[in-house]
Amino acid sequence: IVQAQALWKRFGPLAVLKGVDLNVAERELVFIIGPSGSGKSTLLRCLNRLETPDEGIITVDGIDLLSPKTDINKARQRIGMVFQSFNLYPHMTARQNVMLALRKVQGRGRDEAAEMARAALERVGLGERVDHYPAQLSGGQQQRVAIARAIALAPRVMLFDEPTSALDPELVGGVLSVMRELRESGMTMVVVSHEMAFARAAADTVVFMADGEKLEEGPPDQIFGAPRHERTRAFIRQID
Ligand code: ATP
Ligand code: MG
Repeated sequence: IVQAQALWKRFGPLAVLKGVDLNVAERELVFIIGPSGSGKSTLLRCLNRLETPDEGIITVDGIDLLSPKTDINKARQRIGMVFQSFNLYPHMTARQNVMLALRKVQGRGRDEAAEMARAALERVGLGERVDHYPAQLSGGQQQRVAIARAIALAPRVMLFDEPTSALDPELVGGVLSVMRELRESGMTMVVVSHEMAFARAAADTVVFMADGEKLEEGPPDQIFGAPRHERTRAFIRQID
């Protein structure tokens, strides 16, 4: 459902992506790991064109993401993204935060959007907290609101960039279990994260990136149990 071929991205003299390929099948969970600065976030951001690669091809759900003819705002409706920072509006309740995109982006009516928001918040375990403001929610709950906001738009693929990195350790589990449920419901997902136990348990494919290149790719058992590349081995050793 996601096909990225030979992506190059440079920031001035620095090549951050050096011909990266990434294919994600429907219902697949692809997990991206690698050292800081290896280009993981840049790759993810290219997949919804928050960054535009200098070269390469990206199609998502059959849409050519890099074509000037593509309505990028329309294409982005199929691509949900969750970041480390939740970016909720502090003066709006959980439900209002989720409703906003449904109203603005999808043009839903107030009642319909309110009901869709409630359903999405219920899916992430926040059915009892729809009228809470972000300040009245824990970091983990705020991140679950951000996930609800993304899934309410019924995306074909969800991108997660270190969704639990900003959370206190005791709040990580709740977010991961929401992600696991999303995965079990058949959502296609690309996840950048340091949660290796989650990767082992939930990923179909693990991609190891270093210096703007995809060095190794395979099922979690291979990447974590029998990595082929020396740099993958060193990385796994260091995080274990
Ligand atoms: P981390 O694990 O720390 O999040 P990462 O693998 O996500 O790292 P990226 O954020 O993709 O790495 O960054 C890759 C490289 O590109 C880094 O050297 C970074 O400094 C550089 N970079 C990223 N965005 C920009 C930008 N907008 N302008 C200039 N350089 C950038
Ligand atoms: Mg990053």
